[in-house]
Amino acid sequence: MTARPPIFQFDNSYARDLPGFYVAWEGAKVPAPELILFNRDLAADLNLDADLLETPEGAEIFAGVRQPDGASPLAQVYAGHQFGGFSPQLGDGRALLLGEIIDSAGNRKDIQLKGSGPTPFSRGGDGKAVVGPVLREYILGEAIHALGIPTTRALAAVTTGETIYRDGPKPGAVLTRVAASHLRVGTFQYFAARGETDKLRQLADYAIARHAPDLEGQSDRYLRLFRGVVERQAALMAKWVLVGFVHGVMNTDNTTISGETIDYGPCAFIDAYDPAAVFSSIDHGGRYAFGRQPVIMQWNLARLAETLLPLIQPDDPDKAVDLASTELARFPDLYRSAWLSGMRAKTGLQSEVEDDQDLFETMLSTLQEQSVDYTLFFRHLAEAAVGNPQKLRDLFMNPAQIDGWLERWRQRLEREGRAVAEIKAEMDSVNPVYIPRNHLVEEALQSAEAGEYHLVNTLLGILKSPYEEKSGFEAYALPAPAAFGPYQTFCGT
Ligand code: AMP
Ligand code: MG
Repeated sequence: MTARPPIFQFDNSYARDLPGFYVAWEGAKVPAPELILFNRDLAADLNLDADLLETPEGAEIFAGVRQPDGASPLAQVYAGHQFGGFSPQLGDGRALLLGEIIDSAGNRKDIQLKGSGPTPFSRGGDGKAVVGPVLREYILGEAIHALGIPTTRALAAVTTGETIYRDGPKPGAVLTRVAASHLRVGTFQYFAARGETDKLRQLADYAIARHAPDLEGQSDRYLRLFRGVVERQAALMAKWVLVGFVHGVMNTDNTTISGETIDYGPCAFIDAYDPAAVFSSIDHGGRYAFGRQPVIMQWNLARLAETLLPLIQPDDPDKAVDLASTELARFPDLYRSAWLSGMRAKTGLQSEVEDDQDLFETMLSTLQEQSVDYTLFFRHLAEAAVGNPQKLRDLFMNPAQIDGWLERWRQRLEREGRAVAEIKAEMDSVNPVYIPRNHLVEEALQSAEAGEYHLVNTLLGILKSPYEEKSGFEAYALPAPAAFGPYQTFCGT
């Protein structure tokens, strides 16, 4: 009998190249692994044989109780600023990097288990995860991906057969997460805080090999590594804000070098437009409010810059500060121009006019004043482009207040000189009908806690093509009924 080829073609560069940056570790034993979700589309992108993984053996692998051939499971060490305060040692307290594989596009991907049991970095936590937060990360991550936003993704979710106590007994679960890497701003902070410059250089060179290979061997590569992170994160913040996403815990340990969205905890999408929107139960001061995300990201990037100073200009600290500051100072303009071009697309505009910023700000302040649903506004605006403004006007308690703006926008559209039907189609291709609305996510998670997954599957199916109206699913496009009340999310650790 010929040996079966391994399920994963692991090539574990982190384990191999960065000894001292992790602890080799294994998942905890659990009684009854059961696969509840498996992402066949993603498995195909990863060149994985879904038929081998959608099996009891796959469930054991995704629960962390069976090591697939070639894996080198490990818990990564990192530090991080949490709500502004520095923790010198965090690390994977409930996650294991199984290893890395090369996807069908030739890109290296981490395969990580989250919730697979305690590690030396658990700091008193149980190292576990429960089904609600695991599925929230699955649903929100896949939704963000379908919206064209860089993100880690979910390959699988299993329940473990354990009962885990949070705010009551909950079914234990493990998420399998796929990421361009798990390098965080906090990974750099860990070694910088310890003054381990050699390790920092090793880490930076590893990050360059993975995320900016063009820079390998260049003398100014560390500065340019930083430049790349600034650019990716400015683009990411614009995308979050344009779609109405609130991450909720933008600590530096939850900020990637790759520019992917990571660590979906108490995150949510806004319904009514409100820059002050906060959903997380632990964000008392509104530090990570919807509208503050770009400013916070720049703060996080300043923390990254600090760690890189000794690499950027080892013999001239002042020069290093100057160089890094110049890169960091580009962030607001990079963000602003990415946001402006995204908002132009959302409102059917291609040309650039000086006045656009004011056009958009006027629009947003009216949305805010009247608590208008942010997502529906743009879908209905596309209808208004072809002469049907009624649905849009119906979103406003006082529609007269938007009429003046609508007239100004129509005049601006005329300057585009394109057919309105074409403009509507363009707008509909960038403005989602469906986002993971809080009441729908909540309803799906509650039924999953009771062992029923059909609502989760329905929601995932709809969110996969968010720009396409699906008949029979009109309710999925609507904001929460008033009875749902104000929404709060919990970290779910
Ligand atoms: P997070 O808020 O999910 O980004 O996690 C922050 C830190 O807490 C990370 O170091 C996690 O590994 C750790 N952590 C979160 N939940 C748990 C848990 N249940 N057990 C152990 N460590 C945890
Ligand atoms: Mg985290």
